[in-house]
Amino acid sequence: MSSIHVISVSGGKDSTATLLLAIARVGRDAIRPIFCDTGNEHEAVYSYLDYLESALSVRIHRLRADFSADFARKRMFIARDQRTRRGPDGRRVRWTNKSKRRALALLHPTGNPFLDLCMLKGRFPSRKAQFCTQELKRNPAVEYQLDLMEQGHRVISWQGVRRDESLNRRNAKKTERIGKGLHTFRPIVDWTADGVFAHCAAAGIQPNPLYLQGMTRVGCMPCINVNKAELREIAARFPEHVARIAEWEILVSSVSKRQAATFIPAPGISPAQAKEHTIHHVVRWAKTTHGGRQFDLLADITETRACASAYGLCE
Ligand code: SF4
Repeated sequence: MSSIHVISVSGGKDSTATLLLAIARVGRDAIRPIFCDTGNEHEAVYSYLDYLESALSVRIHRLRADFSADFARKRMFIARDQRTRRGPDGRRVRWTNKSKRRALALLHPTGNPFLDLCMLKGRFPSRKAQFCTQELKRNPAVEYQLDLMEQGHRVISWQGVRRDESLNRRNAKKTERIGKGLHTFRPIVDWTADGVFAHCAAAGIQPNPLYLQGMTRVGCMPCINVNKAELREIAARFPEHVARIAEWEILVSSVSKRQAATFIPAPGISPAQAKEHTIHHVVRWAKTTHGGRQFDLLADITETRACASAYGLCE
């Protein structure tokens, strides 16, 4: 049984360092770098993947979840749905003839995995219901690895995870046996962010330019877990991505039973309040100081072309 080393590449620093280690340790022929494309990515990520492929002479396999087959079933479900149920704010919600007609007219695959998934769910993911990671990243990667196993390979899944990244990663193991023929390897689990950047620099690999533009991590643009400072930075530098999310909010709202869906939810608000609680509203809040009433005008005049990297990469 031959071993295939599957390297999950995100376009961020940790997975880049992991890819470099894999090339050095097992060689290009034994690795399969993969990138799970959510469809909610900054264009710099795609360019950076192209750069990595060319700089490292490897091919990164792009994987995209495809939900197009689920739309017909969802349309049929909505067409028959007469139920009234309670929304998260405790109010009863049901389809009206008008809202149902509108939803059925709009419920067709767009080809964008993130948007299609949200349209099918009638909502955006949230911290408590983070189905995006599972459906858009984990499942395509698992399917890819299962295919390799079915072809008779032993799979070693390399993940660029570090314990000091977050509380839920602090106990991450370096190696794990997931099942017969499937192992996980996290070679940088005890590295620091500085060590990761240094490793990439020593190999002559540039960091993703998003790190030089105020982003502390490379993932969805924006991620549903975006913090206030990151959102302010994104709105200042990449307003087109905020505008795209605002369009998605209108579309996902129109195909949801509540007729309301917000990218960054406020728990317990009514559908009427949710209509006001758009990404633009949250961006306005992100520009405020603590209480949210006073707009921090300094935030508006931040020189967005200046390097604001949290890792000091401009130095
Ligand atoms: S980066 Fe954020 S929004 Fe994107 S899949 Fe992961 S948790 Fe979801």
